[in-house]
Amino acid sequence: MRPEILYPLFADINTLKGVGERTHKLLANLVNGDKIVNLLWHLPSNIIDRTYSPRLNNVIAGRICTIAVKVVEHIPPKTSKQPYRVIVEDETDQLTLIFFKVYAQSITKALPIGSTRVISGKPESFNGQLQMPHPDYIVRPEEIAKVLGMETVYPLTAGITNKMMGKYMQQVLAKLPNFSEWLDDKFLVQQKWRSFNDAIIKIHNPKCLTDLDISSAERTRLAYDELLANQLALALVRKKIKKQKGRILCGNGELRKKTLDKLPFNLTQAQQNVLEEIYNDQGQPYRMLRLLQGDVGSGKTIVALLSMLNAVECNSQAAIMAPTEILAKQHMETVKPLCEDIGVKVALLTGKTKTKERKEIIDKLQNGDIDILIGTHALFQEGVIFKDLAFVVVDEQHRFGVHQRLALSEKGNMADILVMTATPIPRTLVLTAYGDMEYSKIDQVPEGRKPVDTRVLPLTKLNEVAEALKRKIETGTQAYWVCPLVEESEKSDLAAAEERFSSLQKIFGDKVGLVHGKMKEKDKDAVMERFKNGEIKLLVATTVIEVGVNVPQATIMIIEHAERFGLAQLHQLRGRIKRGFEASTCMLMYNYPLSETAKERLNIMRDSEDGFMIAEKDLELRGGGEILGTKQSGFINFKIANMEVHKNLLHIANQDAKLILEMDPKLETKRGQALRTLLYLFEKDDSIRNYRG
Ligand code: ADP
Ligand code: MG
Repeated sequence: MRPEILYPLFADINTLKGVGERTHKLLANLVNGDKIVNLLWHLPSNIIDRTYSPRLNNVIAGRICTIAVKVVEHIPPKTSKQPYRVIVEDETDQLTLIFFKVYAQSITKALPIGSTRVISGKPESFNGQLQMPHPDYIVRPEEIAKVLGMETVYPLTAGITNKMMGKYMQQVLAKLPNFSEWLDDKFLVQQKWRSFNDAIIKIHNPKCLTDLDISSAERTRLAYDELLANQLALALVRKKIKKQKGRILCGNGELRKKTLDKLPFNLTQAQQNVLEEIYNDQGQPYRMLRLLQGDVGSGKTIVALLSMLNAVECNSQAAIMAPTEILAKQHMETVKPLCEDIGVKVALLTGKTKTKERKEIIDKLQNGDIDILIGTHALFQEGVIFKDLAFVVVDEQHRFGVHQRLALSEKGNMADILVMTATPIPRTLVLTAYGDMEYSKIDQVPEGRKPVDTRVLPLTKLNEVAEALKRKIETGTQAYWVCPLVEESEKSDLAAAEERFSSLQKIFGDKVGLVHGKMKEKDKDAVMERFKNGEIKLLVATTVIEVGVNVPQATIMIIEHAERFGLAQLHQLRGRIKRGFEASTCMLMYNYPLSETAKERLNIMRDSEDGFMIAEKDLELRGGGEILGTKQSGFINFKIANMEVHKNLLHIANQDAKLILEMDPKLETKRGQALRTLLYLFEKDDSIRNYRG
């Protein structure tokens, strides 16, 4: 349960004064959530200095000033094109205030003739005369303190003004509860940090530009809080799994040997090393949870199969879960022939499996007549009962997210878990996404693979590229055409892809197909199927093809607006045409002109195929959140912490979390209680809700 002390921060933003139905929507969009706490994390981007308060004869064009003036005269416009003008003065000079398209009534109300008002705005020089168009503030003299000072500027959206934001934020900050400190006292002193509340209040009330610095003491403290919550949450999950007894899987190696003898190749050293680590885990009496990272084409499938066979050798069952139907099928195609030869029984179970067949499979599973089950989420639905499931492989895990991982670990009967991902994750990010989960890396691809010929070209060459593609396709080659990802709206993504599809249809006729994320799984699979069997030669796609789809004849990929993609994503996409022994070509087409960074990024892609190197470089060039396309992949997106700036804190937080759980495993001490609040504050509810140490 969320601690009561947090209730005010988790109330809906519509409980704030001035937030109506319309603003509610806009705000929720802007701050990524409809809770007050979401506003709290919405940090200022700038400040406006309103402290300059000269006499009118000293006013400088272009410099924002705040001045008390007397209203002298109103000059309403004579034509609709003219502005409404108001003359104001102090004892030194006069100034004209200019209003375009404003109701006269509201002006006469705000600036009654003869009254004194404080105005704040930016004066401009017009025909040698100083005037002030649309003052930002017009207040009564007694309210001068509200204006004269530093104004915090927030990132905004159409319909939400900075003034509104300021009013909301004042209310938000007033709701901050009186937290007890969750950080270690000594550490706090050593870092010279203030309390959480002092820090966040200061961040929302910057007095100078350095206060906005992402590496300021206040920002650093909050970043640390967030990282600590992240690491503590992961440590709790891990502890929960680790505490569970596991089973010792230590087969006689017979099935594995037979399989290895059958393979037309030798395992790479990297594959062998990783298998050693996995076998070792499997042989331990506690539950295994290991992450296996391996670049596209590094040969993870065979590693997964061999470790599943270890379980089968122990007369138990194994399962492999893929994120999509197509990928599950693909695993089936690889695994089945190898297994059949050695008498290991394999079945495929997906959402598409017919009722009758499903029933058959379930029966066999229960009797132990199936050794290895391959499938999608359908594997873990109710009614699917294994005789003795001992080992689970989860492929492309980053698509599933931490929550599903938790759910999964609760399903299998003490089953060991191997998580596989082809997304190259830089070291730092492994820690944020998986905590201390053991991890193995296949850092080598089989020998003899040909590199992909990657070219970087401006979009102006599109027609030439299409012409060349036509000639290639006439000789039987197949190709992908990947359409740009437009961040803000999926709709425009789709529109772009559809548009490209119809323009390519004019050249390629019915040899072109289209897949996109908005299609039903069923229809998507159908198109993919037709691409696989060669009916379709050119597949226009949004990034849905990113994940492990295997079409060996496809050796060309054109990526439009490559500059809009994350490098890791480009790397994944390109992996689709990396067929190893055949030459393949990838065209990265960009919109001219490119920024220096964008140019550098595309050049990295051109010059390297090392996914880990690419991911590290991308992290350097762009910072943490974006590279993995967090939105698509379900990776952690930090609210405050920035992986470039706060990297070193992550390791401290990791150690801190370990120490905390060693000293206070139930989080019962005073600090432990405060840490629980911290976890809820950063919405790590899943990790803590049922935690009993
Ligand atoms: P991924 O890691 O992308 O899942 P796969 O397991 O699909 O890679 O392997 C890619 C291809 O490489 C497959 O055709 C597989 O048979 C082959 N392969 C795997 N290991 C080796 C090896 N050691 N030597 C040569 N080819 C291999
Ligand atoms: Mg794979």
